[in-house]
Amino acid sequence: MVYYECQNNQKRIIAHIDMNAFFASVEQYDNPKLRNKALLITNGQFGTTVITCSYEARRYGIKTGMSVIEAKQRCPGSITLASRARRYQEIATAIWLRLMEHVTPDLEVASIDEAYLDFSYCRHLYANYKDMIGAIQSCMSELYPLPYSIGISSTKKIAKYAAGFRKPNGITVIPPQHVKKWLAPIKLSELCGVGVQTAKTLAKDGLIYCYQVQALPISVLTRKLGVVGKWIWLCCQGIEFEPIVVKQPEPVSLSHSKVLPPSTYDMEQVWSVFQVLCAKIGQRLRMMQCRATCIFIRVKTAQRHYFERKIQIKDGIQDEYRLFAMLRSQFRWPYGLAIRHVHIGAWELIPANQQSFIQLKHNHNLLAVQDEIEKKYGKGAIRPMRMIKTNLGAFQSITPRWRIESDKNTQT
Ligand SMILES: [Mg+2]
Repeated sequence: MVYYECQNNQKRIIAHIDMNAFFASVEQYDNPKLRNKALLITNGQFGTTVITCSYEARRYGIKTGMSVIEAKQRCPGSITLASRARRYQEIATAIWLRLMEHVTPDLEVASIDEAYLDFSYCRHLYANYKDMIGAIQSCMSELYPLPYSIGISSTKKIAKYAAGFRKPNGITVIPPQHVKKWLAPIKLSELCGVGVQTAKTLAKDGLIYCYQVQALPISVLTRKLGVVGKWIWLCCQGIEFEPIVVKQPEPVSLSHSKVLPPSTYDMEQVWSVFQVLCAKIGQRLRMMQCRATCIFIRVKTAQRHYFERKIQIKDGIQDEYRLFAMLRSQFRWPYGLAIRHVHIGAWELIPANQQSFIQLKHNHNLLAVQDEIEKKYGKGAIRPMRMIKTNLGAFQSITPRWRIESDKNTQT
């Protein structure tokens, strides 16, 4: 590990912190009997997919997104645990708030287990990178002894790349003046944000490594890939204009989806999932004091057929019971086919500062009481009989857009 002196120039200093195998690490922290064990974390009690796993499980080639059946074949002794969204949110909130208070206020929570810290405006408080890392480490060790890696550089993308360079518990500093040299031998496909398809397109023209892009004029990349090409070229030069976003703007649309177990033919089960998704949409809309005037539904079958429907609602909607009733009456999908994935989106949001006549007439009081109960006893404390009957245990999971103090970002 080499520590470089900070350059007191205009270059930004961005640190990226990535909690390693976060959910599994929390489980091992809370229950010492699980330490050094291969853990598979699933989305709730009935989850069929590994949403994350401990490093002990990764040694068997188990990865996020793998089915639990395959993971069990690879490591029969592995332990399956249902995710505990509330606990993970509690710990993440404590960590990010502590770093904001004691290290730098310019902190962007990128997801529940990742954050960017901008030292650009408080660099005078730290002598060098070692000092910055020390401040992060002392905060983390005082709170929870969980594994994490740190990357430091002049841009968010390169700091994130650096944090992923050594895991778990790695520290990688790529100083601004060394970024181009450092990136040169790296494959373009390894850059954060370069997808498989984009990498393939570039490879067709013989562009595999960053140094090849560094040597080209920007126009070659923009002609080829438009905005994405420009972004890749800038990234290879170590240039970025993306700011640190401390306070995230309210979303302009909401969506929730659920992958179902293979061969789900039971339509009542599918409707139950839809009802959970409607409940999440309704709760978030009420929390945001919005109504959605456009609802989008998509069902994907096991044979990869898509059935979609867009419904316009003039007055807008935030009542999940009315939304669910509307879906049941208006949406038809092909009975007899296995359903693999369901999705609901709420678009074209309008402020809900005035209750519409329809809302007052319908479940307004019921929803207010329900929201109060859930606020007091937690998500899923009260739910329709259909959800209880079908035993949908996985009521909560965490979206990639999770932010501090935001229950809006939990989904099923
Ligand atoms: Mg992570």
